[in-house]
Order: sequence, then C-alpha cells, then structure tokens
Amino acid sequence: MNRPKSYWWQKGFDEKNKVLENHQKASLLMHACCAPCACFPMEWLTEAFDITLYYNNSNIYPRFEYERRRDELIHYVEIFNKEKNANIKLIIPFYDNEAYTEKLKPFKDEPECGKRCLLCYTLRMDEAYAYAEKNHFDYFTTVMTISRQKNSEVLNEIGEKLSRKYPNTRYFFSDFKKKKGMDRSVELSSQYGLYKQNYCGCIYSYNKRKEHEK
Ligand code: SF4
Repeated sequence: MNRPKSYWWQKGFDEKNKVLENHQKASLLMHACCAPCACFPMEWLTEAFDITLYYNNSNIYPRFEYERRRDELIHYVEIFNKEKNANIKLIIPFYDNEAYTEKLKPFKDEPECGKRCLLCYTLRMDEAYAYAEKNHFDYFTTVMTISRQKNSEVLNEIGEKLSRKYPNTRYFFSDFKKKKGMDRSVELSSQYGLYKQNYCGCIYSYNKRKEHEK
C-alpha cells in the first residue's frame, strides 16, 4: 500500500495528543534495544505516558556486548529520571542468546533487513507485548522505528498484527526517526556520550562486521 511518508509518525503523534487531552498519563511498555535508540522516544513520550522500558534483547551476541548496551541504558535512565524529575522504569528479563540464535539459524545467510530480521523483530516484540498485556499496560511500542536501518512500515505491521493477539493493550504506532527524531537522538547521544554499537546485535551481524573490518 502506498502511504504518505509521515503516515506512521502521524498516527503516533495523533495518539499521543489523544492521551494528552485526557489529562492523565497512560501506561506504556516500550521495548528498548539500547540507550541511543531509546533516548529520543523517552523524551518525546514522557509528557503523555508513564513509561516502562523492556530490555529483552537475547539476540545480542556476545554476552559482553549485551551487558554493555544494558548497562548504558540503566545509566541513561538514571540520568534522565534525575534531570527531568521523571520515573521511567526499566525491566530486564532473562537473557538467553543460545536459544535465540537457534531460532535465527535457519536464516543465518539472509542479508540484514531480510527474513532473519523479520523473525527477530517479531520474536522480541511478541515477548515484550505479551508482558505488556499480562501486566495490564495501556500501550505497547518499540523504539526500533528510530533506526534508519529498520523499516518502520514492517515494524508497525508486526505491532498491528500483535495487537490482535494481545487485544487488551493498544499498539502505539511510531516512526521515531521522522520529523528530526533521529537528529535529536544523535544530539542526545553525543551530549551524554552514549555508547553506540557498530553492528546490529546477533552473531550473524557481528560476524559480518568482523569480516568488513578485515
Ligand atoms: S541483524 Fe539485527 S535485527 Fe537482524 S537478526 Fe540480527 S540482531 Fe536481529
């Protein structure tokens, strides 16, 4: 379907305004993959939502890298809460890269943004959405639409499908990179010296990066 370029951004913008008109924050569970991707969505949504971040990223290889991204997010949430007098919470579920990699294995030779990534987005969004519904969140979303490497259309379509599986929690459509969202994320990352990885996360993207460096 041919949609205007800002279609998903507009849907998120309208939804945020709808919540603001209610004069009462809605609860939002937000899947977050790292601090540089989460910083702008946190800033943009905090006036309307009571945000809880969900760092479920068993895709990330090796463990050291998973921990580095996790610790940077913990650190940034602390700074954000202090500076903005906010109360963003962060949940870190169990990390199991071995089992996760097994699931991606049938698509190991796929290029980035192909079938492997589609499965990877779906697995993580599904896991986080299930948590959101089980714990009675009003909304669920993912920060991944901030990335220029990820297709927001694909992510929002996954979110829309999952909203039918978990009908008690609404999906918050987004395209965080649009309307200077990406620029703001770069600005915040540089202001706070946030650690920015040079590969997406899984062992396959890690190996690709290593090959490239050679
Ligand atoms: S490249 Fe990124 S999105 Fe794609 S499978 Fe690997 S970790 Fe997941």
